[in-house]
Amino acid sequence: MSQKKNVTEILHHLGEEEFPFGAVSPPLFQTSIFAFPTFEDFRRALGDETHNCLYTRGNNPTVNLLESKIAALEHGERAKLVSSGAAAISASVLAFLKTGDHVVMVRDAYSWAKTLLEKYLARFGVEYTYVSGTDEAEIAAAIRPNTKIIYLESPTTFTFLLQDLKAVAALARKHGIKTVIDNTWATPIYQNPLDYGVDLVVHSGTKYFGGHSDLVAGVIVGNTADIEHIFATEFLNIGTVPDPFMAWLMLRGLRTLQVRMRTHYANALRVIDYLAQHPKVEEIYYPFYAKHPQYELAKAQMRGGSGLFSLKLATRNEARVAAFTNQLRFFKRAVSWGGYESLVFPYAVGHPDAPDHLISVVRFHIGLEEPELLIESLETALKAI
Ligand SMILES: *Cc1c(COP(=O)(O)O)cnc(C)c1O
Repeated sequence: MSQKKNVTEILHHLGEEEFPFGAVSPPLFQTSIFAFPTFEDFRRALGDETHNCLYTRGNNPTVNLLESKIAALEHGERAKLVSSGAAAISASVLAFLKTGDHVVMVRDAYSWAKTLLEKYLARFGVEYTYVSGTDEAEIAAAIRPNTKIIYLESPTTFTFLLQDLKAVAALARKHGIKTVIDNTWATPIYQNPLDYGVDLVVHSGTKYFGGHSDLVAGVIVGNTADIEHIFATEFLNIGTVPDPFMAWLMLRGLRTLQVRMRTHYANALRVIDYLAQHPKVEEIYYPFYAKHPQYELAKAQMRGGSGLFSLKLATRNEARVAAFTNQLRFFKRAVSWGGYESLVFPYAVGHPDAPDHLISVVRFHIGLEEPELLIESLETALKAI
């Protein structure tokens, strides 16, 4: 485990001692290739691509600076930036599987993580079992002799269910199984899964790391051996290469990660406080809502929460849900989350035949706006229910 540094030290100083001309903003190395002064230097670099800048489908200084910051934030030894969160998931999972292996995954994990198992890995004879993730005995029972990966997402980002990370990591270790967790929701500002014994952390950098809804990216963090294995087997080969300009944008986003997360958290709590007492709101799904069934676990393994939560409206009528959605001001109707802006995403948008218990579930992202403005907007729209 790398030495833990203060968050400000990481975000404002780590790796920034020697920018040319005393530049304060990191240089953008928008280059595909790196040249060498001699045959010998060229040969040395080519023989060790993992540690040298040779070609940008490998290393790049702008990308590497970002990776060193994210590795430090996650208390990991090394990080690899990739072109999307989906690429981070697939690279970290594929690198440790072969035909005949088995994966245990939380049932409410990100949809494309599930597609990887159901549609992609199924073609290569890899089996899987879904678990709720809230019950360690269920996870233990799902483990088979050929289980190689337990894939976690805590909390899940629609139902907001948690896994006990310390317990699951210990269980996996006992069986020699690798654990991978999607930590996009909490970010390392609020949760450090590697400290609990989880092996690999993946992120959609598109969300809070970028923070401005202007880039798509993914990151994998772990120990040096695992990241070098992923680098050599999946990254160089499959080619999910991050663009240096994207890395530069994410470095800019990271500068304000800590203050943005504090505001998302405070704003979400304010808005939830309002919604919790509203008669048109039946249920709220947020780990730091005091009535969440895993509230104690949330407090034990996370230092805070982000701006994403779901609720269930007191209707089973899709037209009412649509009217509510259409009347919301200051909430954009869009997928994704993690930017500065508030968003709304009703489950029924993507599921025209949603069953009754899901028809009025709506996901919100609470941005950096004044919470009073959002509450006022919700108050008006809730009248449509
Ligand atoms: C968005 C998201 C992903 C996928 O990330 P992309 O950058 O869109 O590929 C993975 N996990 C979670 C929890 C996400 O929200």
